[in-house]
Amino acid sequence: MELFVDPGHTRYAVFFFMEEDRTLAIGKLGTYHFLKGRYIYIGSAKKNILARVNRHLKVDTVFRWHFDYLRPYGTITEVKSFDDKVGECELAECLKLRYLATYPMKKFGSSDCRCYSHLLFLRRGCVVLIVKERGISMELQVFRCLKHRMVFSEKERMYHLNLEKGYEGELKFDELTKNVGDNCLIVNDITLEVTNNLFQIDSLLICKDMICMFEVKNFEDNFFIQSHKWYLLSSRKEVNNPILQLDRSETLLRKYLHTHRFSVPIESKVVFVHPTFTLYQAPIDLPAIFPTQLQQLQSTIESKRGVLTTQHTKLAKQLCDDHVTSTPFLRVPSYSYESLRKGIKCRGCGEFFVEWGESILHCQYCGNSEFIVNAFVRTVEAYRLLFPTKKITTKEIYIWCEIIPSLKVTRSLLNNYFQSVGNGRSKYYK
Ligand SMILES: [Zn+2]
Ligand SMILES: [Zn+2]
Repeated sequence: MELFVDPGHTRYAVFFFMEEDRTLAIGKLGTYHFLKGRYIYIGSAKKNILARVNRHLKVDTVFRWHFDYLRPYGTITEVKSFDDKVGECELAECLKLRYLATYPMKKFGSSDCRCYSHLLFLRRGCVVLIVKERGISMELQVFRCLKHRMVFSEKERMYHLNLEKGYEGELKFDELTKNVGDNCLIVNDITLEVTNNLFQIDSLLICKDMICMFEVKNFEDNFFIQSHKWYLLSSRKEVNNPILQLDRSETLLRKYLHTHRFSVPIESKVVFVHPTFTLYQAPIDLPAIFPTQLQQLQSTIESKRGVLTTQHTKLAKQLCDDHVTSTPFLRVPSYSYESLRKGIKCRGCGEFFVEWGESILHCQYCGNSEFIVNAFVRTVEAYRLLFPTKKITTKEIYIWCEIIPSLKVTRSLLNNYFQSVGNGRSKYYK
């Protein structure tokens, strides 16, 4: 879960995920069927937004807000706050547009206004939709958590840098495809398994008569091709030929489509997004899109548009269902709890906060300040990611965060932002 709550703000959006379809009674509004998937609930708190957010985070038995009726049946993935420059209703409207969402239920959270609803549903498999959004890979998340907590070897440092660069390139590519217009389904960052072969696709666009598969590369510098091999110009060192990777993925995707009885042609391309990338001696028929051709990409995709059918949405849904979330081989440095540096890292520069504060932490290195709640939740989430088998207890988190003044303060933060399980000595948090 990620928290971005500013105590000075008054509006908030709760991102909520339901794993199963449910039929639920929502107070006086009646009974509705909620489909599994992602929801956004928009609310406002004139005073003390933190208390309200805490209230939503906890699963309570007293139902006051409409959201309380939904709360026990899903997980909160993120809470974001907004200032009062936009009204609560405008915020709902704006998020609906941004996420291409629909209203799952009438008058949910909007009893006091004229809005249809303050609950949004991010539908899977409707037209113009990013069916699957890009996440930060597990490997990159682990590297980010470990950075500054341990010393990386040169090899690890380079590997981390490449992961960051790759991710940055993918985001750049997403900016280009985000607005391709109607009638195209986008499935980003998907890992599939076909006959015991795992393969990952950066971006897949399902168009009317074609599937476009993209492998995104954020290469900088000059490269050249010689007898189908790729070399870095400056050092003449051979690099992995991205076309081979593309061919492998395309073959496996074709097999996948065949086993699921979808017959759609695939067009695949390696996309080079960095403006300083140059490739010498590239054959004219190389399945690549170069930095100078990126603007054309948008119009090429738009020309492939056409009305999608249920076949297309079925395929998109199938791909999402088959997405392999846990990849067995994480190439991360080996680490142990004992050897890692403890403390709360600054969001801005990644260095450690030196001093505890009232409600804000100030970074001595980059001057960034951050609300304690956000930094605390992030640090506990890092602990959870790095040590998935360890229990989150007050004592462990007190040691892990290092600068929290007492066990008592740690306990109250945990009580506020995490759900407790058990009692007394065996108490831990989820
Ligand atoms: Zn409203
Ligand atoms: Zn900093």
